Amino acid sequence: MEVPADEDDPFEAQRERTANPMRRLFAEYGRDYAPQFAVGVTASVVARVLDLLPPLLLGVAVDAIFLRNSPFDLPLVPRSWLPTDPTAQFWFVVGIVLFAFLGGAVFHWVRNWGWNSFAQHIQHAVRTDTYDRMQRLNMDFFADKQTGEMMSVLSNDVNRLERFLNEGLNATFRLGVMVVGIAGILLWMNWQLALVALLPVPLIAVFTYYFVRAIQPKYAEVRSAVGQVNSRLENNLGGIQVIKTSNAEAYENDRVDDVSLDYFDANWDAIETRITFFPGLRVLAGIGFTLTFVVGGLWVFHSEGPLFFTGDLQPGKFVAFVLYTQRFIWPMAQFGQIINMYQRAYASSARIFGLMDEPGRIDEREDAEDLTVTEGAVEYDDVTFGYDDDPVLSDVSFAVEGGETLALVGPTGAGKSTALKLLLRMYDVDEGAVRIDGQDVRDVSIDSLRQAIGYVGQETFMFYGSVRENVAYGTFDASDEAIREAAKAAEAHEFVTNLPDGYDTMVGERGVKLSGGQRQRLALARAVLKDPEILVLDEATSDVDTETEMLIQRSLDRLTEDRTTFAIAHRLSTIKDADRIVVLDEGRVAERGTHEELLAKDGLYASLWGVQAGEIDDLPAEFVERASRRQAQTDADDD
Ligand code: ADP
Repeated sequence: MEVPADEDDPFEAQRERTANPMRRLFAEYGRDYAPQFAVGVTASVVARVLDLLPPLLLGVAVDAIFLRNSPFDLPLVPRSWLPTDPTAQFWFVVGIVLFAFLGGAVFHWVRNWGWNSFAQHIQHAVRTDTYDRMQRLNMDFFADKQTGEMMSVLSNDVNRLERFLNEGLNATFRLGVMVVGIAGILLWMNWQLALVALLPVPLIAVFTYYFVRAIQPKYAEVRSAVGQVNSRLENNLGGIQVIKTSNAEAYENDRVDDVSLDYFDANWDAIETRITFFPGLRVLAGIGFTLTFVVGGLWVFHSEGPLFFTGDLQPGKFVAFVLYTQRFIWPMAQFGQIINMYQRAYASSARIFGLMDEPGRIDEREDAEDLTVTEGAVEYDDVTFGYDDDPVLSDVSFAVEGGETLALVGPTGAGKSTALKLLLRMYDVDEGAVRIDGQDVRDVSIDSLRQAIGYVGQETFMFYGSVRENVAYGTFDASDEAIREAAKAAEAHEFVTNLPDGYDTMVGERGVKLSGGQRQRLALARAVLKDPEILVLDEATSDVDTETEMLIQRSLDRLTEDRTTFAIAHRLSTIKDADRIVVLDEGRVAERGTHEELLAKDGLYASLWGVQAGEIDDLPAEFVERASRRQAQTDADDD
């Protein structure tokens, strides 16, 4: 079936990659819940058949019991089972009608149980699987997707599947049973009049088909317009401070007005089409109804078929006919909705499976063994790496002995953070290797690798939860005592005890707002608590004031004393005591040595040191020129 193109779909590539997503949905997930599916189908059919009984019985009762002009006969029931006495026949009919209603109620319950259970289980399984695969994707996937877009797959798309599996399948079986059942009964009662009564069915189907085709692009417009309104509002509310300080309220009013008006127009266009659907359907159904009424009425009136109709028609059957034709309209009207739901579910599952199949996951080797850290020596052996085609690191080699501290220094954009991400296997090297105690990081299990490394980065995200939970994140079984000790080592204990609820204070989104420096200290405490063999500090103290930094530095000295440490710091004073300093420039190792050795070389490091010591006037002209060129390059990258 043709799938409507969703405009601005950020997952278009993923969607196009997936073949037969619905078949996959049923094959991969449906199979596990086949019993629920079977219960749903069976109960749907039984419930609908029971629904169809009363009008039929009414017709039979009128003709055979009240008018007594035809034998008491029921489809599929041998005549010998039926009573012969009219009073008994009457109560027999009452009994069946009652049974049909009560049985119908029970089977409707069972049917809903089956479909809902089927859909809910699949929804849960698909959501958790998608999340699991998503969080294992490479970092570059997250770099070029917005959080809202990924949320939309995990919530909207998964919910859409659930809706189709529940309501959509339910409605499909209802429609099937109603159309086949009613057509069967009508044909059994009087095939000639049945043809008249069924005349509008193909017309309604064609009408609905064209309606769906007309309305779908309009709905796509509406969805796109809703997206525009939402992102405008989200953006504005996020930047409310800038709006106020720039005195831009009127300007923003106009912009919101514009997108809202676009939404209004798109919606109105869809509404105009939508509201013609039901009246149109009623006209078609009405024509069928009137035709049946005229032909059947004349037939009963004159006791013989009008025009070319032959045979006889009893009043009871006629009444049943009229009642059944009425029942056609509603399920037929849902036909369009089912198609629509199917198409949206199709697009949603294509996005979901596309995402699950997304390549670029850092995978473990089949035979990966756990990392064993003996010394803690780390070696970068001729490493070349680029996020895309341009190399960010070229032929970078350096090594650090176990227990030493190695500082990476260099201008912004030199590739320092990138180098450390390779150690954690956030990305894999293009050429060369990173080894810990001789083991290539690509050969060991990811769990054991990340367990051995404590990382404190520039972004110190706090989860919504207590301070205690945030510090113990990753070391979930830590004792309160250990958490406090770690906080003390990171100079965080004091400010934490001053928070309203101490270690139980809720922080992160919706919680108490912490300053950048406070967050960094908690992140540091998190790394301390983990007590890793290797510590990576990427600008770990860039947001704290100099006084606190000095305090942290003291505890860091203790902390890094006997474990391998990588440190990146802008303030060179914090790393000048490092055992080794590697200076990176434009992805290459420019210099290496100790602080004193590098100062003596009077190269890039000496110039950077000079800048920080305030000796700006003494810098070589070449250094200043290159800095401004680099600045221009960084600005261009940002555009
Ligand atoms: P440093 O830590 O020395 O400031 P980085 O390692 O952060 O440098 O960045 C090195 C280069 O790689 C920069 O040019 C930066 O723009 C680029 N870069 C960093 N992260 C990414 C990424 N996720 N995708 C593409 N390019 C990136």
